[in-house]
Amino acid sequence: MCIFCKIVKGEIPNQTVLEDENFLAFNDINPARKIHVLVIPKQHYDSFDVIPPKVMASMTEFIHKVVSKLEIKESGYRMITNIGSDGGQEVPHLHFHILGGEPVGRLVR
Ligand code: C5P
Repeated sequence: MCIFCKIVKGEIPNQTVLEDENFLAFNDINPARKIHVLVIPKQHYDSFDVIPPKVMASMTEFIHKVVSKLEIKESGYRMITNIGSDGGQEVPHLHFHILGGEPVGRLVR
């Protein structure tokens, strides 16, 4: 079982930001910015590549609630999802990183 499925099952503790029947948002264990929250579907999908569009639609609604709760709607934030090896994905369970609480900087090479 993957590490995020273990978090969903409560086998690994997490700092929950928001949860509903289908999704969970929790603080990243190794925050890259002041705010660094991961949003995951409770059901396992390897990555964004395989999430059914209907599930993505409900996940979008959930993410909007997370952003409201974090109070970063006005200041802005960055949301990213890494996909596969070139994408730098380490945990093979779809997750969106929400980064903010400070200027996150530009994406430059
Ligand atoms: O997108 P990627 O797969 O690289 O990101 C995985 C993220 O999961 C990392 O930011 C890491 O800190 C986080 N993580 C976590 N709790 C764990 C294991 C990993 O927050 N138990």
